[in-house]
Amino acid sequence: MRFIKAFSVLILIIMLVGCSNENEVNTSKTTSTTTVNDAIPASKEFFAMDTYMEVNAYGDNGEKAVAKAEKEVNKLDSILSTGKSTSEISKLNKNKKQVVSADTMSLIKESVKISKATNSAFNPTIYPLMELWGFTTKNYYVPKDNEIKPLLNHMDIDNIKIDESKNEVSFKDNKMKIDLGAIAKGYTSSKIIDIFKENNIKSGMVTLGGNVQVLGKKPDGSLWKVGIQNPIGEDEYLGVLQTSDKAVITSGGYERNFTKNGKTYHHILDPSNGYPANNGLTSVTIISSDGTLADALSTSLFVMGKDKAIDFYKKSNYNFDFILYTSDNKLIISEGIEDIFSSDLDIKVVSK
Ligand code: ADP
Ligand code: MG
Repeated sequence: MRFIKAFSVLILIIMLVGCSNENEVNTSKTTSTTTVNDAIPASKEFFAMDTYMEVNAYGDNGEKAVAKAEKEVNKLDSILSTGKSTSEISKLNKNKKQVVSADTMSLIKESVKISKATNSAFNPTIYPLMELWGFTTKNYYVPKDNEIKPLLNHMDIDNIKIDESKNEVSFKDNKMKIDLGAIAKGYTSSKIIDIFKENNIKSGMVTLGGNVQVLGKKPDGSLWKVGIQNPIGEDEYLGVLQTSDKAVITSGGYERNFTKNGKTYHHILDPSNGYPANNGLTSVTIISSDGTLADALSTSLFVMGKDKAIDFYKKSNYNFDFILYTSDNKLIISEGIEDIFSSDLDIKVVSK
């Protein structure tokens, strides 16, 4: 997978951490964030998965937990990245059969499940199309219809075979290639939160290229405040979410794209036609206690577009909330966050 994000995306979601003044804003770039009771977290910033990351853990084992978290990120990057030829995913894509680690197995299984649940709005077999559009190399290219169409025939999720007794994944279609870029960062933030818990950390937060997952509440007992960036106004927020124990994950076409002949093409592709998804949404934020799910669904609902996304929310058994920002600048949220999300914009609330 390749997670290419400009440094500016670090402020995609801005953590309003530990401000004694309600209106004060600290960006996620801040290394030692001051809280009301002056607790200083163990904190580390690093670059992995082609994005800037920051982990913060409060409490006695903070340093240890943060060091373990960084190690875990590097491990996951090395097994999942399509940009690394030695990764399990690269080997699977090349050889069409691969013995994989428990992490890769669990992510592929989850990806297949979510692909089916979203009627293929989420489809990890998108990789050949990502290559065709040049997103994997940054040699961007606008393909012709007759270059896209043949690739759509190699995206049948049922051609991914899983043999858990051998820890093996294989493809029944030898043109198939997968990319876990739409789900792996959420999985990674969830695993970091697990590491925090194992190390008895009660309060912490992880920012992976703008995606945020928080553990517990802030050390002073108040809720974390997560600012959701306005995709069309870099210094503005769509709103602020006050929360605990949640992943807050955003997908948007503004994050990674290129412009050719005045037209902008972004990196979230619609598996039904092979083109950048253009279904009336500018960004989708998913809020869930399950980071893996939140990441996969942020991409899925972005692909679905407003009506199908709302319909999916109403019918789905998955436990999540959403913030949709439409192409005509409307803000639509689900009822579960009505009391914890505030915005200067008008908000439409959708119930189950
Ligand atoms: P980001 O990784 O930029 O935060 P997403 O979570 O939405 O954003 O993931 C986008 C990435 O997922 C793309 O770069 C690509 O690797 C992959 N991808 C693109 N379209 C799809 C899709 N429809 N289903 C699954 N993965 C996709
Ligand atoms: Mg995603």
